[in-house]
Amino acid sequence: MAKQPMLKFINIDRDMPEKRPPNLRKEDFNEIYAEYADAKAKEQSSRCSQCGVPYCQSHCPLHNNIPDWLRLTAEGRLEEAYEVSQATNTFPEICGRICPQDRLCEGNCVIEQSGHGTVTIGSIEKYITDTAWEKGWVKPITAATERKESVGIIGAGPGGLAAADFLRRAGVQVTVYDRYDRAGGLLTYGIPGFKLEKDVVMRRNEQLEQSGVTFKLNCAVGEDISFDDIRKAHDAVIIATGVYKSRDLQAPGVGVQGLVPALEFLTVSNKKSFGDDVPAFNDGSLNAEGKNVVVIGGGDTAMDCVRTSIRQGAKSVKCLYRRDRANMPGSQREVQNAEEEGVVFEWLSAPKGFTGDPITGVMVQKMRLGQPDASGRQAPEVIEGADYVEDADLVIMALGFEAEDLPTLWDCPDLPVTRWGTVKAEYTTGRTEAEGVYAVGDIVRGASLVVWAIKDGRDCAEAILEQFNGASAVAAE
Ligand code: FAD
Ligand code: SF4
Ligand code: SF4
Repeated sequence: MAKQPMLKFINIDRDMPEKRPPNLRKEDFNEIYAEYADAKAKEQSSRCSQCGVPYCQSHCPLHNNIPDWLRLTAEGRLEEAYEVSQATNTFPEICGRICPQDRLCEGNCVIEQSGHGTVTIGSIEKYITDTAWEKGWVKPITAATERKESVGIIGAGPGGLAAADFLRRAGVQVTVYDRYDRAGGLLTYGIPGFKLEKDVVMRRNEQLEQSGVTFKLNCAVGEDISFDDIRKAHDAVIIATGVYKSRDLQAPGVGVQGLVPALEFLTVSNKKSFGDDVPAFNDGSLNAEGKNVVVIGGGDTAMDCVRTSIRQGAKSVKCLYRRDRANMPGSQREVQNAEEEGVVFEWLSAPKGFTGDPITGVMVQKMRLGQPDASGRQAPEVIEGADYVEDADLVIMALGFEAEDLPTLWDCPDLPVTRWGTVKAEYTTGRTEAEGVYAVGDIVRGASLVVWAIKDGRDCAEAILEQFNGASAVAAE
């Protein structure tokens, strides 16, 4: 009888890929986790108990067939594992790196709940597709037949690119427009290299280009080309522009030199990592080297800013957050990584204003957690008389993002938006009330996750194909 390759969680402990020591990883922007060796990936996959009702799968937004690719990996059938994995996820190696697994698949793994430590689903997903790239199993798309219909996609982030991939597989002509000089959206210019190395994103961009996707980069819709012209040029349009307007703070001193928005800081740092010449980095305005840096916010963007500052050689890095550690929105794993790298967290601390111009400090008021608010979270309250000034010569605001006003910027009053400015679209198809216009990702959901943008892009592409197939069936009657 064949040896049972699974259910080894009782004898084998959870073991993440090796993490580089903080003193080394602080020196560069490379990823901090190593790749599993083949034997380790097999071993860790074999811990899965092959649940009949896999909660890991139901809590993955893409409903990835996790138990099957874990079993295939444990059995050494890696090419089949890759086929199963890529059937539901356009960019498995990216999700394996940056999904907040503790809140999604791994956080719902039953063996974690029985006290054995979750299966390391994300690291194994990354391993499978990184290996597929290495072995040459990931190929440019060749559609069985070319179709005449074309789709214009505005925004080359994960939502737009997932739709582009899906539509090209069906032979649709695809043009992607983006205002940046490189495709990838926040994968390229938001998320730092220590979480997601840039060649991982660039090889996907190249694969799509080789698959026949046309990229029109350095092309800002509303400036270099009108939305109306894009609508006229294509049979359907997908808006996948993300959310980029930084949430502001109303406080004395806002607007002084040295108080900068998170995304500007991260974009400049990522451009620098590509080797670009970046004046705002060279002149020191968006460069943390030698500075006392304070980052305001408790989400993943704030975590990326503190850890980027450390790598740029800041003198000190502090993070101010108005709630406590247990109530912060960012991932606990990232907080731990940041602390290991030397970041100091000032919990229950909120900015009240800023001193100096250029900036010299943040006026901080201490908080305590009071009664739960409408969202059920304990609302922070000010502790009177406990204010102090935190010295700083660079302050980075990471308070979240909102949608830009697309109907005005693009002169398209028929585009339906919500009161938050996000595009009103059906979640399951991306369809809007404007004829032939679809929308996906953050511009529909508000600031969200890469995995949800991928899901939206795929679902939307499927809905567009249905629309095209319906139209050709009618034409053939
Ligand atoms: P985006 O990735 O934002 O892409 C939108 C694209 O549209 C951009 O390339 C932009 O240039 C383009 N565009 C916008 N307007 C125009 C225009 N007028 N004309 C032409 N092009 C335009 N999620 C995770 O799952 N894990 C993480 O670890 C994580 N870390 C993050 C860290 C940071 C700093 C930030 C800001 C976000 C992070 N996220 C993370 C969230 C994630 O990046 C987003 O949810 C995801 O990228 C949204 O994808 P999208 O395709 O909707 O939009
Ligand atoms: Fe987990 Fe994200 Fe992969 Fe789904 S896509 S299995 S949530 S890491
Ligand atoms: Fe395997 Fe955990 Fe998923 Fe169950 S929940 S199938 S043990 S990974």
